[in-house]
Amino acid sequence: MTGTSPVWHPFTQHGVAPAAVNISRANGAWLETSDGRRIYDAISSWWVITHGHCHPAIIDAMRAQASKLDQVIFAGFTHEPAEKLAAALIDLINSHPRTHDQNELSHVFFSDSGSTAVEVALKMALGFWRNIGQPRTTLIAMEHGYHGDTIGTMSAGARGPFNAAYEPLLFDVKRIPFPRVGHEHATLDALRAACADKNAAALIVEPLVLGAGGMLMYDVATLGAMKHICEETGTLFIVDEVMTGWGRTGTLLASEHAGIVPDILCLAKGLTGGSIPLAVTLATKPIFDAHYSTDRMKTFFHSSSYTANPIACAAALANVGIWQSEPVLGRISDLSALQASHLESFRTDARFENVRQLGTIAALDLKVTDPGYMADTGPKIAAHALVNGVLLRPLGNTIYVMPPYCTTAADLAHVYGIIRSIPA
Ligand code: PMP
Repeated sequence: MTGTSPVWHPFTQHGVAPAAVNISRANGAWLETSDGRRIYDAISSWWVITHGHCHPAIIDAMRAQASKLDQVIFAGFTHEPAEKLAAALIDLINSHPRTHDQNELSHVFFSDSGSTAVEVALKMALGFWRNIGQPRTTLIAMEHGYHGDTIGTMSAGARGPFNAAYEPLLFDVKRIPFPRVGHEHATLDALRAACADKNAAALIVEPLVLGAGGMLMYDVATLGAMKHICEETGTLFIVDEVMTGWGRTGTLLASEHAGIVPDILCLAKGLTGGSIPLAVTLATKPIFDAHYSTDRMKTFFHSSSYTANPIACAAALANVGIWQSEPVLGRISDLSALQASHLESFRTDARFENVRQLGTIAALDLKVTDPGYMADTGPKIAAHALVNGVLLRPLGNTIYVMPPYCTTAADLAHVYGIIRSIPA
């Protein structure tokens, strides 16, 4: 946009950022600018687009719903898209593989974004303990974690430049180390210690991949072991699958890799295929039951004006339909294999390190003197990609490719050609 635009963009330093690119259309994995240029969306528009932009089934569902019921208050009222979606989500999630885990997610609370899904999860956990008369007041979270930009989610997330100014508002959580390869025991020991006083309401983690923390990946066994420690100590286990959900890691949910079912599950982004904002926080029956009472003080006190917006629910229901009727997992597995083959050649490229992948998510670090998020590296790589028709948005020196599942072999070859040609 021009320098006269009144728009204040997110996570944008307007003093140094180039003018925002004006997008007028999108289809599949491609964006089109208002002056007719095509840009390949290598980061699924901030990790939301799963099947591709403007999937016809999702657009049709929104169009049909918009002509019937646009919005209605959700306290004391309900509607078919929300009822059907909640039932479909429970069915879909509980039908996916697990091992010994006895948990069943049984209730669905709607909100509007990943941040609110996590805020709701944290509030549910604290409400659970208070309502059953055994208040627990601390939360445990992982080093380098990111859970959103509201006060509660920033508190659970890692401290750093993103939230330094808001530090006075943030509350303390107990922090366990990121399970680096070979140091997983330190994470588990820290978790055991943090749970020992039986005052921990919940542990919250991003399962297997820490997104905004730098696409940091850890192993399945540690995820399973963390769940096990939580079970043993009665600590609730919250998984934030806002980024990892809806197939990114190769399975519907990342938790599936470890065969676990959390007590509370947060989903957003790909819930509507990335088309329109909607989020859900799923909980087990004991958590719902702790809020079920004739005592109004035990109500779950959370809402937002647009809770369970019917058009967004219709989009999400269409997304679930796509998962059931199209070969989504097959596409994901093909895309994962393509990612693996491209990454292979970077393993021996001396300019890069920490080449890593889980499912459709690929990441690698460019060796630079200042790897920090605030350095110029990220914006320079993004600018180089953009002039070559690709949307990348590195996290510091970490370049990642998280494509929509309709990506073709040629699209991906183009992206990796550009990564290889990043100027020294
Ligand atoms: N949790 C995780 C793991 C995320 O990656 C994000 C967003 N990147 C959020 C929460 C917050 O989601 P939203 O931006 O929709 O509020």
